[in-house]
Amino acid sequence: MARALVVLFTLLSILPAFAEPTIRPRLRKVTFPLTDRHELSALEASGGFEIVEVAGGRVVALQRTERPDETAWVPVPAGLAVLSEDVDQELAPFSAQGSEGAYHSVAENQSELADWAARFPDLCRVESIGRTFEGRDIWALRITGAADPKTVPRMLIFGLIHAREWASAELPHYIIKKLVNGYAADPAIKKIVDSRAIWVVPVTNPDGLAYSQGQYTMWRKNRSRRGSSVGVDINRNFEVGWGLGSSSSPGSDVYRGPSFASEEETRAVLALAQRERFHVTLSFHAYSELVLYPWGYSEDDPPGKAVLARHGKAMAQANGYTPGSVAQILYVAGGGTDDTLFLRHGCWPFTFELGTQFVPPENQIDPLCAKNWPAVLHLIDALPGLAQTPPPVGVAATASRRLAALEQAWVRSRTALFEDMQGAGGSTVDELLATLAGQVQTDPALAGEIERRARDPRLVGLYTPLVRAIRMR
Ligand SMILES: [Zn+2]
Repeated sequence: MARALVVLFTLLSILPAFAEPTIRPRLRKVTFPLTDRHELSALEASGGFEIVEVAGGRVVALQRTERPDETAWVPVPAGLAVLSEDVDQELAPFSAQGSEGAYHSVAENQSELADWAARFPDLCRVESIGRTFEGRDIWALRITGAADPKTVPRMLIFGLIHAREWASAELPHYIIKKLVNGYAADPAIKKIVDSRAIWVVPVTNPDGLAYSQGQYTMWRKNRSRRGSSVGVDINRNFEVGWGLGSSSSPGSDVYRGPSFASEEETRAVLALAQRERFHVTLSFHAYSELVLYPWGYSEDDPPGKAVLARHGKAMAQANGYTPGSVAQILYVAGGGTDDTLFLRHGCWPFTFELGTQFVPPENQIDPLCAKNWPAVLHLIDALPGLAQTPPPVGVAATASRRLAALEQAWVRSRTALFEDMQGAGGSTVDELLATLAGQVQTDPALAGEIERRARDPRLVGLYTPLVRAIRMR
C-alpha cells in the first residue's frame, strides 16, 4: 500500500505538467442540443469550448481553435450550428485601444474609487488588496457608517474576474454610487450603510481588463506568465474542487493554473476574506441572466441549500433571472470563487451572470445595473440575518486549524514520497498508471483509499483525473 501510494503521489505531481504554445485562437459562437449534462464539463475541460449558456435544452458555447485555421476546430458535438463566425467582430466598436467608452478602464476604476474615498472620508476607505503579476493594484472600497466596522455584518461585492466581462465591473460601481450618494438623501440607505460594512472590488482582474480593452477583447484569464504560456482562469484557481471542470493545458481559456491559489488575484481575494470574515459575498460575471450559488464542483445539494435557494429565488424574482446551483443548472465547474468562500471561509456566496452579452452596447449599461439593483438590495437587506446563521459547513475556527494541519501534512507527504519515488529510479506517467491500475485490482484497501480521497472536496480535483485514468485501463 505504501509503495502504491508512492506511485499515486508521484503521478499527482506529474499529471498537470503539459505545456503547449500560446497561440491566439479564433473564437466562434456555436449552439448544440444538450444531451448529457455530464459531458459539458468534459467538453470544457478539453480546452476547446467555453460554455456560456445552458437553457431550453440547448447549449451556447464559444468554440476555439488552437491555430488561426478553421480546420483545427476542436471536436464538434452532434447537431452543432454556428451562431456567429467571429465573436471578436461583434465587439469591433470596443476592440481598439482607448475606445472602452462608458466602460471603466483600469485607470478610471482606480481614480473613481480614490475619488469616493476623498469626497466621503467618513464613509469610504480605499485600499489595495493585492498586486497582480504585472504589478497593478487590485483596488477595494470599503463603505460603512459604523463606528466599528469589524463588529457589524460584512459583505464582499466583486466583479470583473474574467477580463472580457466588462459589464461585471459596472454594477459594482453603480452599487457604490447608490450607497454613497443615497446616504444623505435616503434614510433607508443611511440605515443600511450605518449598520453594515460593504466592501466593493469592481475590478478583480486589472491585468486582464487592460489586455481585453487594449489588445484582445475576448481575453478571459489573468496575464500571469509561466514559460511561454499566458494566463490562468481565476475562477478555476480556487481550492475547493480544483481540477474539476477545468483544463490542465496552459493554453486553454479555462486553465486552472499549476496549483490552487497559484494566482495573485486568487490570493488577494482569499486574504481579504480571511481578514474581514465576510458573512456574504456577491460576485458578478457576464453573461447568461442567472443567479448562482454552490456547489460548482459537484451536482450534490450543498449544505444550507434551503437558505441559498430561498435568497437565490428572491433575487431572481427581483431581476428576472434564473436561480440555481452552478453544477445543477450549468455544468460542473470546480475551483470557482464561491465553493471556497463557502466551505473554507463560511460565507454565503452568490454570483450573478449579468445580461446577455459580455460587453453590451454602452447605452445598456445603466438599464442593466438598474434592473439588478433591487436584487442586490435584497441581499444587502438580508445580510444581518445571514450573518447570524452562518452556513452549516463546519468551517469554524477549529475546523480551519484542523484543515490547515491536514494540508501541511499533505504537502509534506507528497514531497517526501516524490523524492522516494525518484530515488527508486523514476518512471513515465504511463508506467506509473499501469502499476497503479494493477495494484488497485489486487488491493481493495488501496482502491477504497483512493475512492475515499476522490470524494473529499479538498482533494477531489487531484484525484478525479487519476481515477478516470485508472478506470480507462
Ligand atoms: Zn465569468
